[in-house]
Amino acid sequence: MRALQASELVPAGFVVENVATDAERVLVTIRASSASCTCPLCGSMARRVHSRYLRRLVDLPVGGRSAEIQLRARRFFCDASCCQRRVFAERFVGVIERYARRTARLDDVVHCLAIALGGRPAATLSKRLNFRVSNDTLLRIVRRRGAAGFAPPTVVGIDDWAWKRNQRYGTLLCDIERRRTIALLPDREPASAQAWLARQPQISVIARDRGGGYAVAAKRALPHAIQVADRWHLMENASRAFLDAVGKSMRQIRKTIGAGRIDPKLLTYAERLQYEGFQRREETNASILSLSQEGAPIREIVRRTGYSRGLVRKILRGQRSDVFRTRPSSLEPYLPWLDAQWDAGRRNGLALWRALRERGFCGCRIVVSEWSARRKRAEKAEAGAIGRAPSARTIARLLTIGRDQLSKAQTITVAAIEGGVAALAEARDLIAEFQGIIRRKALPELDAWLDRAALSGLAAFAKGIVKDKDAVQAAIASAWSNGQTEGQICKLKLVKRQMYGRGKIDLLQARVVGIH
Ligand SMILES: [Zn+2]
Repeated sequence: MRALQASELVPAGFVVENVATDAERVLVTIRASSASCTCPLCGSMARRVHSRYLRRLVDLPVGGRSAEIQLRARRFFCDASCCQRRVFAERFVGVIERYARRTARLDDVVHCLAIALGGRPAATLSKRLNFRVSNDTLLRIVRRRGAAGFAPPTVVGIDDWAWKRNQRYGTLLCDIERRRTIALLPDREPASAQAWLARQPQISVIARDRGGGYAVAAKRALPHAIQVADRWHLMENASRAFLDAVGKSMRQIRKTIGAGRIDPKLLTYAERLQYEGFQRREETNASILSLSQEGAPIREIVRRTGYSRGLVRKILRGQRSDVFRTRPSSLEPYLPWLDAQWDAGRRNGLALWRALRERGFCGCRIVVSEWSARRKRAEKAEAGAIGRAPSARTIARLLTIGRDQLSKAQTITVAAIEGGVAALAEARDLIAEFQGIIRRKALPELDAWLDRAALSGLAAFAKGIVKDKDAVQAAIASAWSNGQTEGQICKLKLVKRQMYGRGKIDLLQARVVGIH
């Protein structure tokens, strides 16, 4: 090893004139080592110095102190007779950019920090690292450098993501083979997706959800590419179709299991609130339905009632008659176990809660004690039976889980529904078959299944599948799925949250595409 030269502390091509230091800071005065400079306009070599001036720059910290560079820069005369330029300032391309206040090597570090952490956290860390950079500067650097490039993909996944839930959506494109996000689009318009896809003609497979918009875009931009419907979405759509079928049959179900009227006494406080909300909603439903029966068009109903168009349509289609909001309770996964404990005589709410916690339940004690209180009241009111009609979601679950997992009361309920609402049992079996076809990749069975489903309560779902049949077939047969894209969207959500409100699309894109 040899002694460190002061010139090695500064970028190559410079001579150190002086180094001064105090407790916090190192100040290095430098000048360019070459005697000449190329004219930026004509390219000829200039040697005649016009004047000198000082530039101040921040550099990478030295030994824990912030480093400041004082650059004695020159202006040159251009003596070439053909050149328009008489005087120019010397340039240090790639080392110190024009007008820059940081050296290029510090800018690289700052850029990496901003990509990895996002503006505000990076600004905080930069202070600790002795080169204070403001949040705005960090964001500006990311924006100026843009997103990292990407290798041309051949298998892409496309899906939408929420800028702001229920308000604003963007589109994410992901290279499924390389497992990385390659682009974010500011909206989820088919036209935007189409324009992006058209610039990547080498793409041969597009995995997408079943929304329809991306399907159209892909077909127009890349008619030869194979479209693959997302398997996860297919499974999810199938479950939802069944839940819808249950929701539409709720009145019939209540009639069959003899709980057509709900006794508010049996409900806990939260449910009572829901029940009151339900009564209000039923009144709304009734008034909207009667307006419609009088022959008022949707627009007129919207104007007269003040409800949104979407809601009115939902009500007219009979999609809003379910009593309880179909949101699963935290207790739901444990209900079969709880029922078994209950039947075995273990009925102490506190003891049950303790045992549940050991099984991974995270909810608070009240949830369990309310459940047990409800059970006690229910048993008093009606020996053996649970005192209310379960929600559509609960019924959908009861109908789809294995018989061995049902309690005695639940088995009775299921048997009653299967007997009384036969169409629902059929729909349940059809959904199970469909999911089986996807899982087993049993493509040849699809057509027969579609024929049967078209005549069942799942006709609408089957119709949707027929409309998108090529992509569904590809989803069953092909190895590609949009699961990757889902993962990338999770990552995006994380980055977005770190950026607080400042996540403009270019910043978000630079960060998401930059992280590997
Ligand atoms: Zn010149």
